[in-house]
Amino acid sequence: MGIETPSAYGGSESSFTSAIIAIEELAKVDPSVSVLCDVHNTLVNTVLRKYATEEQKAEWLPRLAESQLGSFCLSEAASGSDAFALQTRASKTEDGKEYVLNGTKMWITNSYEAEVFLVFANVDPSQGYKGITCFLATKDMGIQIAKKEEKLGIRASSTCSLAFEDVRVPEANVIGGVGKGYKIAIEILNEGRIGIAAQMLGLAQGAFDLAVPYTYQRKQFGQPVGTFQGMSFAFADAATQIETARLLTYNAARLKDAGRPFVKEAAMAKYWSSRVAGEVSGKAIEWMGGTGFTRESGVEKFWRDSKIGAIYEGTTNIQLGTIAKMVQKEYE
Ligand SMILES: Cc1cc2nc3c(=O)[nH]c(=O)nc-3n(C[C@H](O)[C@H](O)[C@H](O)COP(=O)(O)OP(=O)(O)OC[C@H]3O[C@@H](n4cnc5c(N)ncnc54)[C@H](O)[C@@H]3O)c2cc1C
Repeated sequence: MGIETPSAYGGSESSFTSAIIAIEELAKVDPSVSVLCDVHNTLVNTVLRKYATEEQKAEWLPRLAESQLGSFCLSEAASGSDAFALQTRASKTEDGKEYVLNGTKMWITNSYEAEVFLVFANVDPSQGYKGITCFLATKDMGIQIAKKEEKLGIRASSTCSLAFEDVRVPEANVIGGVGKGYKIAIEILNEGRIGIAAQMLGLAQGAFDLAVPYTYQRKQFGQPVGTFQGMSFAFADAATQIETARLLTYNAARLKDAGRPFVKEAAMAKYWSSRVAGEVSGKAIEWMGGTGFTRESGVEKFWRDSKIGAIYEGTTNIQLGTIAKMVQKEYE
């Protein structure tokens, strides 16, 4: 849980690409466990590694590597894709030692189990997005879980709405400076979406690995169903799609690790891997016939889990918008 965290803070001091591979591997078995690891590492730990002071890192990174789970609280009921329209407010106390947070957050991954919450709130709405600030809050400061969502997929990953009613956060828990929350969120989500691409890639591979061997056991018309050309060509097509998702995802991670521009490639990887995950896991159900349609097979779960790939950390349309803007810039 501290994949990129320096060893001095109890982490593994590995690369971003290592985090991506861990997320992919977990998703081959369970995309819910994968996203728990993804949000904790690529969002929460990364914000602290990049923007926290030395004192803040020494305080929080070892806990996050060893014992406590983190969550990233940006979205609200009225601000999803338009995240910077957020309404949660932070006002400074008269002695200047604390901020008081009021508002609600929606759909927050890990929040049922988390002890550390990175919360985006506006300290000065008259300044618009320039008032958005990132605060580190802990559960014992009074964050309330208002509702745990029932979901189509990734059901083992908690998704809750949170209520902040006069939650007092020490001034020392502002991360990256007052008014810097906008920049932090944009930068982190740009790279974080490579994590979702990896989750979707692992999911597609997991569904494939589950369904294809079954088709070599299952016989109809006196032969294994996987050996009919209509089936084997579908496997070849799916294997090629998975490989394209893998290459896009690893390339985006490689560019990020090399300090080169990666925003377009990250958006492409997330957009494409989500599509591949939905298509391959849907086909995998069909390859297993009636068995695939039952809960016992485990393959229908991958398909349900795939749907979220087109929604969180920027919907498919938001990714297409980013890619389109960058293509236009290149050719204008
Ligand atoms: C399971 C789950 C976990 C989540 N985890 C977190 C988390 O940990 N932290 C967090 O902060 N948030 C989290 N979210 C919230 C998630 O990031 C948002 O749901 C997502 O950004 C989309 O916002 P929305 O739901 O308000 O959809 P909307 O923004 O209302 O979008 C609805 C539709 O309109 C389209 N649309 C919106 N704007 C445009 C546009 N400009 N151009 C074209 N089409 C557009 C979208 O593509 C979409 O199809 C999570 C959500 C879910 C479901």
